[in-house]
Amino acid sequence: MNRKYRHTVIAGNWKMNLLASDVKAYADGLRELVPDFYKWCDAVVCTPYTSLAAALRAFKKSRVGIGAQNMCQHESGAYTGEVSGAQLTDLGVKYVIIGHSERRAYYGETDETVNKKIHAALKNSLCPIVCVGESLDQREIGITNDLVAMQVKAALHGVSDEGIRNAIIAYEPIWAIGTGKTATPQDAQDVCCEIRAVIRVLYGARTARAVPILYGGSMNEKNAYDLLAQPDIDGGLIGGASLKPDTFAAIINAANQPQR
Ligand code: PEP
Repeated sequence: MNRKYRHTVIAGNWKMNLLASDVKAYADGLRELVPDFYKWCDAVVCTPYTSLAAALRAFKKSRVGIGAQNMCQHESGAYTGEVSGAQLTDLGVKYVIIGHSERRAYYGETDETVNKKIHAALKNSLCPIVCVGESLDQREIGITNDLVAMQVKAALHGVSDEGIRNAIIAYEPIWAIGTGKTATPQDAQDVCCEIRAVIRVLYGARTARAVPILYGGSMNEKNAYDLLAQPDIDGGLIGGASLKPDTFAAIINAANQPQR
């Protein structure tokens, strides 16, 4: 983390878990455990579409940002089952995860659709949390940095300097998501540092310094402190460990550490 230049962001991704009727108890539990967490990090909870309204109500006075896990790249029209950026903004949603590896793997999302969704998110004043990351095979053959650099460049194609300053990048090695295997703090730092270098080439040093880059992949209450201590890791995108207020609160608390 480097709080001098950028926000620390701890974002939960509930995936397809929990019900709208579970949200109030979750919010009450989290607020009790970290009443003033917004002092040292921006906390975000990305719920299924069906829980967004309940989450916006339950977290209204707590300054927790609410995010969706996906959105449509189109503005409106005949796209049955899809949800647009304008519809999310209209609800009060502030963040949206774009290009999660599960969407890329199971729903055919490509670098091209990811890029279109980022443009649509920014146009609708949503902060995109843009996911990139390599598979285990790609890591083992030594192309992690090249691949992630390419994903970042493709995702940000045509995105303005103002746009990237309103976005968040999440480095999520696919082999670490939901597996209990976490990248070592040094490995995660190396890739996050590479991502910042790509942003520096595209937008310059001042902008690169300002963009939060998160790590995601089995981050939990035990490993969060060491991951967040890395200079280029500005927070976490957390799946499993965000489903319970106590583990999510412990990760938020790990963001409250002195700068090295
Ligand atoms: C995720 O869904 O983005 C994620 C990182 O999941 P988990 O923390 O469960 O690995």
